[in-house]
Amino acid sequence: MSRGAIVIVAGAGALGLSCALALADAGCAVTVCDPAQTPQASAVAAGMLAPVFEAVLDEGGEAAFDLLIAARNLWPGLEARAGVALDRSGAMAVGEAAWLADVAAGLARLGVRPTELSRTTIENLTPTLGSVFDQALLVREDWRLEPRQALAALRRTAEAAGALFRREAVTGIGEADALVIATGADQRLAEAAPELARLTPIRGQILRFMDIRGGGVSLRTDGAYGVPASDGLAVGATMEPGRAEAKVDPAALAPLVAATGRLYPALAEATFGASAGVRAATPDGLPMVGFSKSPNVVLAVGARRNGWLLAPLVAQMVTACITGRDPGPYAARFDPQRFKDGRFDAL
Ligand SMILES: Cc1cc2nc3c(=O)[nH]c(=O)nc-3n(C[C@H](O)[C@H](O)[C@H](O)COP(=O)(O)OP(=O)(O)OC[C@H]3O[C@@H](n4cnc5c(N)ncnc54)[C@H](O)[C@@H]3O)c2cc1C
Repeated sequence: MSRGAIVIVAGAGALGLSCALALADAGCAVTVCDPAQTPQASAVAAGMLAPVFEAVLDEGGEAAFDLLIAARNLWPGLEARAGVALDRSGAMAVGEAAWLADVAAGLARLGVRPTELSRTTIENLTPTLGSVFDQALLVREDWRLEPRQALAALRRTAEAAGALFRREAVTGIGEADALVIATGADQRLAEAAPELARLTPIRGQILRFMDIRGGGVSLRTDGAYGVPASDGLAVGATMEPGRAEAKVDPAALAPLVAATGRLYPALAEATFGASAGVRAATPDGLPMVGFSKSPNVVLAVGARRNGWLLAPLVAQMVTACITGRDPGPYAARFDPQRFKDGRFDAL
């Protein structure tokens, strides 16, 4: 395949739209298909582009720090190309002294030097934060975007670059030269790409306090985060493995409500909305990006809880596969064929 290839992109979430734009920019004739009005996980996400705190706080994150940083470093290019606004205020960790000490040790292992903040500075940065937090570690390396604005900007720019959009589900490669599968946690294209059977769903629920609007520093604490956004302060998120329904389950929201009370006591009685999305995870937590066993099918799935962060890196690699260029240093770690350990040989 080469420049000028006819490419179908299945899925118009963060990954599908980023791939569509990169492919259109590379000279491909791109059609993006998605039956949904709003892509699900991508629209409900908090939008953190957080290589540092994801490396420190997420299981297996430390080993992925190099590629998380590489992905974040591609965002200024998308900011310039598509007008996706990035908030570079940073993120700060607050919590119990022992937990904060673990975070500081994790940051030191990564070679990241946080700024230790006094209570006065914390109050200036986040006036709503509970007064029990008198210490914080601020890192400026973690950024943020507004998911719905970013989806609109990516779509607009992809359209201007020549990509066509259709509100329909893809069932196979049809007459196209290549099919890019960016269908999130959905496995209904497993006949076109058997590797999709390796994905497991992880539902995530998130609270939104619509009366608190604005930008600024995000908060990370033990088991939760608080993200100030223009459509409301987001407190997230649950990790519910095996749950594939993007439905709010009020019974699972209790830990987030409790975290809100700890972080923002003034909001303990405030009204909030809740939404749910389903993340797609592979057995090792890294995405599957690259060729399927099925000819001319390229996967862009399994970004788990960092799909927004990873989107430009995934798009770059998918475009390299389709235009016959080197997919770069992360190709082996993202290779959809990497799970041949006996358990998956039948696929
Ligand atoms: C609560 C929550 C908070 C999160 N916070 C963050 C965060 O702060 N930072 C971050 O980086 N990530 C975050 N994530 C993860 C991130 O949202 C996902 O990794 C990312 O959105 C995945 O994007 P996607 O394009 O792969 O999938 P999706 O956004 O799920 O899009 C897939 C699309 O494919 C479509 N589709 C399915 N089947 C077909 C078909 N056959 N044909 C055509 N289209 C099809 C669907 O309709 C859907 O629109 C969060 C996730 C959740 C749930």
